[in-house]
Amino acid sequence: MGNIISLDAAGRHFAMSNGLTSVLIDVLGLSGTRLAKTDTEKRMIVWLLEKDQSAAGGGTVGFDICEMPWNDRGFDDMKRFWLCVIEAAKRRTGWELLDYPPNEALLFPCLDRFHELISMAEPDIIDHGAVESWLCDTREDPDDPILCGYPQCPKHHVFLTVFGCHLCNGQS
Ligand SMILES: [Zn+2]
Repeated sequence: MGNIISLDAAGRHFAMSNGLTSVLIDVLGLSGTRLAKTDTEKRMIVWLLEKDQSAAGGGTVGFDICEMPWNDRGFDDMKRFWLCVIEAAKRRTGWELLDYPPNEALLFPCLDRFHELISMAEPDIIDHGAVESWLCDTREDPDDPILCGYPQCPKHHVFLTVFGCHLCNGQS
């Protein structure tokens, strides 16, 4: 079992084990929460952290870049934001809060591949149906963190999702 992150529009993808997927999301959550300033940026990081295998099940959190909650407007800004988040993860931003040492030999190539896919993404790939359906689910739950000012885990300083903290969940 594992998870695949793809950019089907460009015929590209990479696969990771379930454990490595959790590590990738942990480190992107740590750097992303620190860098996110706008609602759109915060929403993107919450969306990623919601790919929580402790809640959704192992091997069920792969995605295509087109499903991410992009906006037509400001697409290039969001791309730049993501590339900064990935680069900050490679600088080990927030890693002092991890209770395990990531295996950099496995993780860094995945961060590089994710960087490559995001770099190749163009506005015409956006899957508006997937984005709208995710936002719609969000609006149905008044307690959704997205509607409650983007609270963070007091221990890990990452955005909470409907499933709680991705890092806390990974420890149990
Ligand atoms: Zn936590």
